Formats: sequence, C-alpha cells, structure tokens
Amino acid sequence: MNADLHCHSTVSDGWLAPADVVRRAAANGVTHLALTDHDEVAGLDEALAVAREVGITLVPGVEISVSFRGETVHVVGLGIDHRNPELLAGLAQVRRGRDKRATRIGEALEAAGIRDALAGARRFARNPELVSRAHFARHLVASGVMPDVNTVFRHYLAHGKPGYVAHEWARLEDAVGWIHAAGGVAVIAHPGRYRFSDADLGALFDAFAACGGEAVEVVSGAHSQAEAQKFASLARRRGLLASRASDFHGEGESPVDLGCCEPLPPDLLPVWSRFV
Ligand code: AMP
Ligand code: MN
Ligand code: MN
Ligand code: MN
Repeated sequence: MNADLHCHSTVSDGWLAPADVVRRAAANGVTHLALTDHDEVAGLDEALAVAREVGITLVPGVEISVSFRGETVHVVGLGIDHRNPELLAGLAQVRRGRDKRATRIGEALEAAGIRDALAGARRFARNPELVSRAHFARHLVASGVMPDVNTVFRHYLAHGKPGYVAHEWARLEDAVGWIHAAGGVAVIAHPGRYRFSDADLGALFDAFAACGGEAVEVVSGAHSQAEAQKFASLARRRGLLASRASDFHGEGESPVDLGCCEPLPPDLLPVWSRFV
C-alpha cells in the first residue's frame, strides 16, 4: 500500500496533465492517489479513467484556498463527489476571486518593473480560470528575472514582497461545509507551512474541529521530519485522522515525487481507512 493524497495537475498549477500525473504515480508504485487541484475538480474524470486503465485507486480530491486570521490556509477534500452542486458553486466563487487577485498581482508586479506579468503568467496557466502565483513565478524565471521559482517567491511573491496582494479566500467553515456536502473528508493541508503563532495554529485546529474537520496532513512534501513529528503528536492529541501527501507539482519544482514521502507513524489512524 502506497497512498499519496495530495498533488496537482495542469488543471491548477501542476506541470503534468491529469492522465500523466496518474501514470507517473502508478510507475512510482502509488496504489491510492488523490488528485487535489487548487479550487478546481475539472481534472478528475480524466484521472479516474486513466487510474482504471493502470489499475490504481484514484480518490477524487480538491485543495480549497481559505483565509483564517489573515493567513491563507489550504483545506484538502478527499473522497468527494466532484459533481456535487454545492461544492461546484463554492469552488466557482473561489475561482472568481482568484481571477480578480491575478489582475491585482499583475498590476503590482508591473509597478515593481516586471513587464507583461499577467499575460506572462497566463501563458503558463493551462486553465484560464486558475492563475496561481506559481504561474507568475514561472514567467519570471522564463524571462530571466530570477533563477528559480523559490527565489521568485522570496523576492516577489511571498507575504510583504512587491507582488504580494492580500486576498480573502473562502471561509474555513464554508470550505469544510462544501467538502462535507459532497460526501468528502476534510484535511488541513501542510500545517507546517503557515506563518502562525502557536495560539493561532491552535485556533485553526479548534475552528476546524468545530466544523467537523476530520484529518491533518502529518507527512507532507512541504514538511521537515521535525514538522512531521510535531503534527503526528497533534493528530494524536486531537484524535484526527492522518494523511500522507507529496503535494507534487512537477519535477524540479517539488522536493518529493509522487508516492515518495516517508510512511506515517504506525500508531496513527490513516485517513485512507475511509477509502479502502
Ligand atoms: P496561490 O494559490 O496562487 O497563492 O499559489 C500558491 C502556490 O504557489 C502553491 O500551491 C505552490 O504551488 C506555489 N508556491 C508557494 N510558495 C512557494 C515557494 N516558496 N516555492 C515554490 N512554489 C511555491
Ligand atoms: Mn500549487
Ligand atoms: Mn497547498
Ligand atoms: Mn497543494
């Protein structure tokens, strides 16, 4: 069993088409894969079809952008019915906000001396409704402004940098509600990534529990081993299911390939106990 329950395709800011994500996962030995594009489920039919062909289990998923205490938090939904109207309406609303934000990021980068920033980002976005900061970053790398996307984030796109614009994403309780309406399980994605004090992180998990959230990514491509241990303790303390996830976007841009994360600590209850 090799579960990888969070990754991206060209439907959001991944480099591979949904079919190729599934093929790569299968080649890497993944047995249970969740495709979780940002704020969008349009890749799931293709992924499901190819998963049947190559003989792995595709768990339909999504990664919803949420605002909590001034920070962006990502909530993954797993095992969703990706045709559920309430979920689809919620995601469409988040994408409209994302599109407005893209325009503002483009303007902010122009003001910082980057020409044709929005048009450049759009050239990297296969899905016109889904322009991510990753697409802006790729444009700045391609035009020779910065050597790699990580450096772009540090200089231009991270909080407080010239291309950063504040944005109100979905409310936590709405995102969890959409996931539940679609029959899915809600997971706090990569908790080690948020710039929260311990008090704010505690408040996030309290609010998540209050709206019935079920799980947390303990092992993530975005976590160090120390972070994995920290969130393993948190999962035990709060009785949350645990997830394992590469958050793979593409070769060269992601530290961990599909299916190549560390295993979960054996005493934790894996979130995939809900799907197998
Ligand atoms: P957005 O949802 O448009 O704000 O973009 C967030 C995405 O940007 C993440 O899902 C990653 O794909 C990418 N990203 C964020 N921070 C970094 C970083 N430091 N280096 C590379 N990619 C990043
Ligand atoms: Mn991304
Ligand atoms: Mn994320
Ligand atoms: Mn992700």
